[in-house]
Amino acid sequence: MNIKFWGTRGSISAPGPETTKYGGNTACVEISNSDTLAIFDAGTGIRLLGEDLLRRSSGRVEGHLFISHFHFDHIVGFPFFRPLYGKNNKFTVYGCEGTGRKLENIFVGQMSPEYFPVTMSEMPAELQFVQVTTRPLNLNGWTITPAYINHPGLALAYKIENGKSKVVYMTDNEPFRYLLRQQARKAEIFDDLKTGKVELEREDLLLVDFFEGADVLIHDGQYTQAEYPSRLGWGHSFFEFAVEMAVQGHVKKLMLFHHDPDRTDAALDKEVEKAQSLVRSRGLFLEVDAAREGLEIALP
Ligand SMILES: [Zn+2]
Ligand SMILES: [Zn+2]
Repeated sequence: MNIKFWGTRGSISAPGPETTKYGGNTACVEISNSDTLAIFDAGTGIRLLGEDLLRRSSGRVEGHLFISHFHFDHIVGFPFFRPLYGKNNKFTVYGCEGTGRKLENIFVGQMSPEYFPVTMSEMPAELQFVQVTTRPLNLNGWTITPAYINHPGLALAYKIENGKSKVVYMTDNEPFRYLLRQQARKAEIFDDLKTGKVELEREDLLLVDFFEGADVLIHDGQYTQAEYPSRLGWGHSFFEFAVEMAVQGHVKKLMLFHHDPDRTDAALDKEVEKAQSLVRSRGLFLEVDAAREGLEIALP
C-alpha cells in the first residue's frame, strides 16, 4: 500500500511563503493500492486529491472516506471534493457513533444553504454513511480498526493492516494525563514539562498497544513542550509525547502531523531535528519526520 499526504496542517489552513515545504492544507491522507482507495479526513487537502483521482480514473472513482472527527479542519474540504459531483462515482463515509447526531446529518448540515450553495442531495455521486465503533472493518482484504482517542468531543484513530504492513492514523490526540487529571495535578504537570519528563498514563498505553509494531504511525505533533502548558485540554500533543508514544509502541517510523498553523517550515525543521536527536541520544531506533504535502511512503 502507498501513503500520500495531501494535507498535514491542523486547526486551520495556513498558506503562505513560510509553509511551502510542509504545506498549508488541513488534514487529508490517502492510503491506497491498485484495488482499494482509503482516504483519512476531508480537510482542505482533499480538494487536490479529488482532482488527482479524476485524472487517474478511467471514468469511475470508488473509495472509502474515514473521518477522525468533525472539527472544521477535518471536514471542510468535503463539499470541494470533485469526485462527489460525478454520477458514476461511489463513496462510503465512515465516522464515529455517539456524537448525538447521525453521521450523515453532520455532512448534510455542513452543506445547508447557510454554509454552502450546493446541498448534499444535489451531489450526484452514490454516497453511503457508516457509523463505526471500535469493531474492525474489512475492506478488500484490508482490516481497518478504529479506536477512540483523547480529543474534545469524540474522535477516532484508524489502524490499517493488509497482512504485510501496519499504518496508524492518529491525529488530534492529547496525552490523557494532562486532560483527565489537569486540575488535580497541574503543578506536577508543569514541573514535568520543565524537566522534559514524559509520563504515559494507562489510557495512553492502551493506544500504544493499539499501534504496537506499526510500520508508520501518523501522530498529532501540534505543540512544543514549551507551548503545551498554555494549551492544556485543547486536544493535541507535543513533539516529545508523540516520540515517547512511538518509542513505547516499537513503531518503525513516526510521521508528525497536524502541524500548528503558526509553525513555519524553519521552526518545524528545528523540531524534527530535536526529535531525531532525542531518539539518537537514547540509543533507540525510530525514524522521525514531519508529514509534508505531496510526500509518499511505499509499503508492501
Ligand atoms: Zn484538527
Ligand atoms: Zn479536532
